Amino acid sequence: MVAVSGIYGRELAGGVCNSSLPASPGQTPGGVGRYLDIIANVSFEAKIALHKLGDDLNSALLPTCQDRAWFVTGECANGHRFAKELVCGKEFCPVCGEDGSTAHNRRFARWLPKIQHFESLGYFVFTIPEAQRAKYKTKKALADLGHQVQELLKSWGYLRGLRRWHFFGDYAGLIGGREVNLGELRISYLKAFNRLIETFAKMNGFDLVLNPNKATIFWRNPGGQHSSVIARLVADFAKTYGLHLKPYSSIKPNPHLNSLVGGECGPYIPPRVLATIKLEYAGLVYGIPVKELGESHPIDVKYRYRLSPGKMVHALKYVTRATFRDYTWDLDMAMELRGFRNMVVWGRGEWGDEPAWSLGDLGGKARAAVEDLDIRAIESIVAGVCPVCGEALTWGEALPIGLLDMVDKQSLGAGYYSLGDLPPPPVQPADVKFRLYALELAHRLEVRQSVARAEAEARAEAGEYQGWWSGLLDTD
Ligand SMILES: [Zn+2]
Ligand SMILES: [Zn+2]
Repeated sequence: MVAVSGIYGRELAGGVCNSSLPASPGQTPGGVGRYLDIIANVSFEAKIALHKLGDDLNSALLPTCQDRAWFVTGECANGHRFAKELVCGKEFCPVCGEDGSTAHNRRFARWLPKIQHFESLGYFVFTIPEAQRAKYKTKKALADLGHQVQELLKSWGYLRGLRRWHFFGDYAGLIGGREVNLGELRISYLKAFNRLIETFAKMNGFDLVLNPNKATIFWRNPGGQHSSVIARLVADFAKTYGLHLKPYSSIKPNPHLNSLVGGECGPYIPPRVLATIKLEYAGLVYGIPVKELGESHPIDVKYRYRLSPGKMVHALKYVTRATFRDYTWDLDMAMELRGFRNMVVWGRGEWGDEPAWSLGDLGGKARAAVEDLDIRAIESIVAGVCPVCGEALTWGEALPIGLLDMVDKQSLGAGYYSLGDLPPPPVQPADVKFRLYALELAHRLEVRQSVARAEAEARAEAGEYQGWWSGLLDTD
């Protein structure tokens, strides 16, 4: 996505709306962190390989959702039952990092009801100049700058909004052998790029990505007997399409803060106002008074706006996507960002009005993005409240996802499910009920396994018999 700097619209009626409301602590993301201990099971070889980097790294970076999956069930006092898949949510997790993953959909679903309050959507991107980036690699530095930007926007009348950091720029291609973000690429040579990736993968290459904004290909030579062939192939491609060529290891963080705000002041921002916002932001990034800023303090703030619900939905999908797709891009930062609260909503008390538009207003791609989501139910479950009756939900222990496959359920989207209701309770403590349910599931699993075993045995016998029979026929 290419962002445009500045919008040259009409003047705001009455200049800039201003207000001084108390700061909002924003919202906290759902707490799946405690389940990560349970999920923290890593392949032995991978552990050995990274052992020299320390145990901390092992437990922090390796557990992903690639080959294990868990869920928990929850229920209210009235026997309404729900399930949620547990995901690690790490941006570099091969599962959670994907566009449209459960983790991505969850972030999207969490913010969608907020966006629905906006008649129009203002979308700011606050970038950090390269020379200043080293300062913004810690949770504290990023959280502080994020908060300062939020206060800056509030001082300009944006009383409510949402903010989220992207840690890296837009990369599309092959990362660790996985295809990433190719669907988002808007380049004339996409077909040729796809062919290059295909060939590269066939020669056992793993890392080759394009950053269209920088017109640069980053890649790692897989070595081996094809080493020089592949080097020439990639170099030729870059030359043909006028791209720079750089080693994959030179990919560096490029944090930029996405801020989505309502159009309370109108979607248009006069250039004079945008210029002042930029100056004030530059003061924050460089940590010096605005009047001391000069030529040597470049700054870039992009602003654009969205008028239709469909375009707002697309912007939200984009903002909530993962950008830190490979932890080797910056190992220290990957470690540092553990537990970073990156989805921040501001303006408590400012969100009480009626939604400005409904999901039914959406068409085309935007409709497809929300079709499978029961936003109201998800919002309620995330808040720990039964969407049917409003009672508190109590969650059980983590169970292997295979068990969920065999339960009657209705998908609510983003990895949330509604399960069949329990009959009104004989009064039992919650943990007893949970254990009974787990037993029931385990029993179903046993039944299913024994059926499968019997079928397999029958098949094996039939196969052997057939083999023996055809063996007889072949011997003459
Ligand atoms: Zn994951
Ligand atoms: Zn209920």
